[in-house]
Amino acid sequence: MSTKDFVEKDYYKVLGVPKDATDAEVKKAYRKLAREFHPDANKGDAKAEERFKEISEANDVLGDPKKRKEYDEARALFGNGGFRAGPGGAGGNFNFDLGDLFGGAQGGQGGAGGFGGGGGGGGGLGDVFGGLFNRGGGGTRVQPRRGQDIESEVTLSFTEAVDGATVPLRMSSQAPCKACSGTGDKNGTPRVCPTCVGTGQVSRGTGGGFSLTDPCVDCKGRGLIAQDPCEVCKGSGRAKSARTMQVRIPAGVLDNQRIRLRGKGSPGERGGPAGDLYVVVHVDAHPVFGRKGDNLTVTVPVTFPEAALGGEVKVPTLGGPPVTLKLPAGTPNGRTMRARGKGAVRKDGTRGDLLVTVEVSVPTDLGADAQDALEAYRKATAGEDPRAELFQAAKGA
Ligand SMILES: [Zn+2]
Ligand SMILES: [Zn+2]
Repeated sequence: MSTKDFVEKDYYKVLGVPKDATDAEVKKAYRKLAREFHPDANKGDAKAEERFKEISEANDVLGDPKKRKEYDEARALFGNGGFRAGPGGAGGNFNFDLGDLFGGAQGGQGGAGGFGGGGGGGGGLGDVFGGLFNRGGGGTRVQPRRGQDIESEVTLSFTEAVDGATVPLRMSSQAPCKACSGTGDKNGTPRVCPTCVGTGQVSRGTGGGFSLTDPCVDCKGRGLIAQDPCEVCKGSGRAKSARTMQVRIPAGVLDNQRIRLRGKGSPGERGGPAGDLYVVVHVDAHPVFGRKGDNLTVTVPVTFPEAALGGEVKVPTLGGPPVTLKLPAGTPNGRTMRARGKGAVRKDGTRGDLLVTVEVSVPTDLGADAQDALEAYRKATAGEDPRAELFQAAKGA
């Protein structure tokens, strides 16, 4: 029984009744066939047993007016079993969840779930049909499972971190095994795990009046067990896939920041959502600029006359034209000034500031004229002692 069969399965044909058969006619047909193919009357006849299962399954659906109505609607939507005719177009590339679709109707007896066309779509139809047969259920339901989260790392240049960047990220993740379409079964016909009846989880009492839920050990939390394990994935249904993905790192990330990219992790199973991708970003240092949150920092050397007399100083910006900073007369060494809007991009698209720290540079190689001028300056300021306060304070303490 493949997943495709579920949609193509014609319960009316199984019971040998027309589509407009009355409830009484359905019941009558079922009773007659059930007697005929009942295991007690056909000991050791595997074919009869199989037929009996089909008949029961058909009756579960057609014998219940509500389920029958939903079944009719579903088949009408699929063009009477036209599995490939759907909004996915050619190739039927949508992943709806057959486990959900027939989970309730099917009871515990057969295979379930599995993957649709793979790729594309993302389970839109699974949402539409989710629970179709589960309402008022009582049957086994194979739960959709969310894909795993993946963690990865990337190193950005300083500028990339400020501006944001799209970087290729190579990662290995869990993907459905191609050989068995993620069912784990060679023929694509896994059966529902008897231990957890398809839920993938088992409860254990703690003695304290409540119970904890653990992943089912027998099916490793998948809810399905391969009847004939796929040789490629050893029945797990999962394969390692290495893929390179283009990942957009938003502007303004900081070194060692962990970014969450929703839905970029491993794909989900049976209509479950994909996991998330977490990227730990490392940012290379820049030879000139530093980061302080949204602000960039830069240290700018100025001459003593510029600091003392004031002046206009050109300051480089990251990736833009230089800005001119007006130094007031008497700017002390180490003062930090702000160039607004020249910092890192914030989440809302605005920018932080560029914090410019002034560093008075001391010349090491003076020309004769400069030397003379400085000697003259020394004479002119001979009466001033810059350390007078220091010594005063030292004494006072
Ligand atoms: Zn299980
Ligand atoms: Zn496989």
